[in-house]
Amino acid sequence: MVKRRHRGMERRIAAERMVTLFRLAESEALHRRAGRSRRYVELARRIGMRYNVRVPALFKRSFCKKCLAFLLPSVTARVRIGRGRVAVTCTSCGAVQRYPYKREQKDRRATRARAQ
Ligand SMILES: [Zn+2]
Repeated sequence: MVKRRHRGMERRIAAERMVTLFRLAESEALHRRAGRSRRYVELARRIGMRYNVRVPALFKRSFCKKCLAFLLPSVTARVRIGRGRVAVTCTSCGAVQRYPYKREQKDRRATRARAQ
């Protein structure tokens, strides 16, 4: 008998597994077990690549793109803001990731202006 693969179902399960693995990585990071935490991130990304599933938006910025450590502010990462950017520094390898937040600032100003 031919075993049929159901792509949609496979991808849905893959996405679920990725979320589970990222949650595990988060809890390991919280307990300062860097090795395990990194391993979970690695597995989650590997599943994503295999089944062509993106990293869930919630976890997109939550790991170091260089060493795959799970980035938990104050535990494994340092977060600083300035010049319309958020800089997240990985405390294990020192890589810095920068994200813009100018738009958020603008939105906030707009809401405040409306409130007054
Ligand atoms: Zn790193």
